Amino acid sequence: MSTFQAPKGTYDLTPPDSAKFLAVREAISAPLRDSGYGYIETPGFEDVELFARGVGESTDIVTKEMYTLTTKGGAELALRPEGTASVLRAALEANLHKAGNLPVKLWYSGSYYRYERPQKGRYRHFSQVGAEAIGTEDPVLDAELIILADQAYRSLGLRQFRILLNSLGDKECRPVYREALQTFLRDLDLDEETRRRIEINPLRVLDDKRPDVQKQLTDAPKLRDYLCDACKAYHEEVRALLTAAGVVYEDDEKLVRGLDYYTRTTFEFVHDGLGSQSAVGGGGRYDGLSEMIGGPALPSVGWALGVDRTVLALEAEGVELDIPATTSVYAVPLGEEARRALFAVVTELRRAGIAADFAFGGRGLKGAMKSANRSGARFTLVAGERDLAEGVVQLKDMESGEQSAVPLAEVVAELTTRLG
Ligand code: AMP
Repeated sequence: MSTFQAPKGTYDLTPPDSAKFLAVREAISAPLRDSGYGYIETPGFEDVELFARGVGESTDIVTKEMYTLTTKGGAELALRPEGTASVLRAALEANLHKAGNLPVKLWYSGSYYRYERPQKGRYRHFSQVGAEAIGTEDPVLDAELIILADQAYRSLGLRQFRILLNSLGDKECRPVYREALQTFLRDLDLDEETRRRIEINPLRVLDDKRPDVQKQLTDAPKLRDYLCDACKAYHEEVRALLTAAGVVYEDDEKLVRGLDYYTRTTFEFVHDGLGSQSAVGGGGRYDGLSEMIGGPALPSVGWALGVDRTVLALEAEGVELDIPATTSVYAVPLGEEARRALFAVVTELRRAGIAADFAFGGRGLKGAMKSANRSGARFTLVAGERDLAEGVVQLKDMESGEQSAVPLAEVVAELTTRLG
């Protein structure tokens, strides 16, 4: 071990486990790529104001969890705590919404940072794969995104996840509800911080996990009873589309999510094997966000799925991902001359598109064969002085154990054939 360790609340991805993370990112993004979503990448940091305005001044993310910094030039930046505000900022900046092709459908994958109290499933650096569909109000789009996330999780073999669904109303009906809720909450026995929250973002009080708070919320006014007709109809349509697609969901009127920008459809994917950090992903509609960050009205919807927690969910369910060995051919040279000859073969194999690796460092046969085994390679090539004198290499099929001498000049062609 060196003097240094990964910072508190972070961990490193190292082989072989890192392959799982890559596979999860791949599985989550595949359905998006097949559904017209284009890849977007934005910087790891943004103007701190973007998140203050976009994510919301009253959220824990902005008030407590942001990593902020002042640059030498005096700019106030924050490491990105989430993806949506940045993606929308980038789409507006590039005028993607003016190209006459709405919705603008984008997907992304990257690192996010929140100064949280670390525990299993909650880190200060974590990975998300996300999707945003910008500029269109259409319940089919909300349904599409939920269906694609469901498809991604199923393709990974996950089964014990649930989809929670709610509608948060829009700028017509939510303010009416908000006031009714505030009136109710002000009469409760709550601590100072929660009282402040009532005034800034009362819906989030409903999300309080403490039992003594929850007990007092039983008779709180229900958002469902306040939804305007347009929101009701929209939500019914999303529900019907999900049902038609065979996607099972649960109505959860307590679901408000920790970000201020959501309107109408909101949803969360929870996994029952994860303990307290059970949300593996979430998202919803954010019809007002573009205007909040200075853009035109662009009703949009999106989600982000946590890669770290998805990996934990796979482990909790005991799902072993089928991750194919990365190396097909492993070369073991015995002696100086063989080293040069086999390295030339390996280079040629790689150029022919065959994944090949090599026993470096002039190791003995026994140790090198162990590495060959560990690599998962289907074939090994072994050559010593005598083989080279005869112009051959020994080709061993690691599955059947069969070994045969193949002329050096033909080995690439032979392997190409055998590997199909
Ligand atoms: P959120 O934007 O908070 O809804 O986050 C979306 C998803 O990202 C969550 O469902 C988690 O899977 C993941 N996530 C959020 N915060 C963390 C964290 N601190 N550590 C690990 N994963 C996280």
